Amino acid sequence: SVPTIPYPKNDPELSFKEGLPQTVKLKEQLANTTVVDIPAVIGGVKYFSEDIIEVRPPHDQNRVIARIHRPNKEMIEKGIAACADASKEWANTSFADKAAIMNRAAEIIDKKKRIEIAAATMLGQSKTIDQADPDSGNELIDFLRFNAYNAQRVYADQPLTVPTALNRIDWRPLEGFVYAISPFNFTAIGANLTTAPAMMGNTVLWKPAEKASLANYIFYQALEEAGLPPGVINFMPGKASEVSAAALGSKDLAGIHFTGSSEVFQGLWKGVAENLSRFKSIPRIVGETGGKDFVLAHASADADVVAISLVRGAFEYQGQKCSAASRAYVSESLWPAVKEKMQAMLATLKVGDVADLSTFMGAVISKESHEKLTARIQSAKDDRECKIVYGGKTWKEPGFFVEPTVIEVSNPKHNLMEEELFGPVLTVYVFKDEAWDDVLQLVDSTSPYSLTGSIFCTDRYKLVQAEKALVNSAGNLYINDKPTGAMIGQQPFGGTRASGTNDKAGYWLNLMRWVSPRTVKESY
Ligand code: GLU
Repeated sequence: SVPTIPYPKNDPELSFKEGLPQTVKLKEQLANTTVVDIPAVIGGVKYFSEDIIEVRPPHDQNRVIARIHRPNKEMIEKGIAACADASKEWANTSFADKAAIMNRAAEIIDKKKRIEIAAATMLGQSKTIDQADPDSGNELIDFLRFNAYNAQRVYADQPLTVPTALNRIDWRPLEGFVYAISPFNFTAIGANLTTAPAMMGNTVLWKPAEKASLANYIFYQALEEAGLPPGVINFMPGKASEVSAAALGSKDLAGIHFTGSSEVFQGLWKGVAENLSRFKSIPRIVGETGGKDFVLAHASADADVVAISLVRGAFEYQGQKCSAASRAYVSESLWPAVKEKMQAMLATLKVGDVADLSTFMGAVISKESHEKLTARIQSAKDDRECKIVYGGKTWKEPGFFVEPTVIEVSNPKHNLMEEELFGPVLTVYVFKDEAWDDVLQLVDSTSPYSLTGSIFCTDRYKLVQAEKALVNSAGNLYINDKPTGAMIGQQPFGGTRASGTNDKAGYWLNLMRWVSPRTVKESY
């Protein structure tokens, strides 16, 4: 019989105030982390190759924290074969067994590895502790517990049975392996992209992002310690193009679970389409991609709430969230107060090394990202349609820093209102108070994405009107709140249009994508 898992509670936030034991431990961990060699792990065996990539903290290019041993083609093929081998047992492993492994891994992270994985997330991905632990601690743990809980909802669903026949659904895993490609910006997303399919009995080939590989490898070791059988998830920190070519070239590819850029996601779809006749099953494709997330502030909104939500929504983790506020539409009568409050707040916030726990923003992820952001900010400085309201400085020593930057545009269709920059740049368009209807139209039609969005408004009539007009403009809509920081179990996360397939991370809808039900009718 199936054990009943009660609805989990969100993992409580851990404080890192000065002097607490965990704070002392974190500081030691940050200072003493030595270079970690990261292998590929295939069928439970570690493979160290000669093709090594060094990982440096984005905020400190003089330090090396990890060396990734990138698997070669043969190793990647071995990883795919290991998925097939492990699948025979894993597909028939009971719900209780799988749920216990996931919950145990959550405990191991919480009790034994929480500081280590937070430090790795801070160093590898340049997250402040206020951003790191809610990711590699809270959210990662929540994904494990909620996915186990939600699997039970899927398994419990059964069709009608009549006196002359028994009907049932076998919730089979997909026939083949799932290819998981995870991003740099959340350690927890790697955990979800792999364990959601695994929880439903699938085996997984996992390509983590280079900058997140250290934190992701620590998570992977927690899964091993929790008893995940060898080969159920194969850790493949290789070159994206090579791992993808091998995965798309295998007839056993049964699913793709992706978070990353729209461009890469589209490439994967095309790759699947090109190989379609060769696959044994038509692969399931689930992806969450980019965003150009809006904040819309009506004249009736509270200026303090709007200002703090913009600062947090646009600049926490350097704006490198798919959900980050990046285009704001602010009512003319509200803007002077919002602007002043934002400027005052931003002037007090530190940008720099995340090892200083009072830092608000670390560095952006890479040289390429830094170059792109520097170029966009420079062209805004030269553009008569743009006014820099705050920030605008960027620097490269000792890492890739970009000041939080607010740009006011006079043209609501300016490129800065459309293009996803994935950095700490917020573009604002100020609209006439009486132009509410027009601005709703602008919000909906300006960007190709539809991930998150916020409406700030205390006028009930205008709010409902906006909710209706923006029905397809966001997969996650926030009212009088910032558009980031969805909580597992509370705000199932995902978007539509260019933002992905909207299969809602951390929700049972997502788990439905990793099963292939067999309906059985037995007549008497
Ligand atoms: N779930 C995150 C949030 O709500 C964003 C995830 C992402 O950037 O992909 O802020």
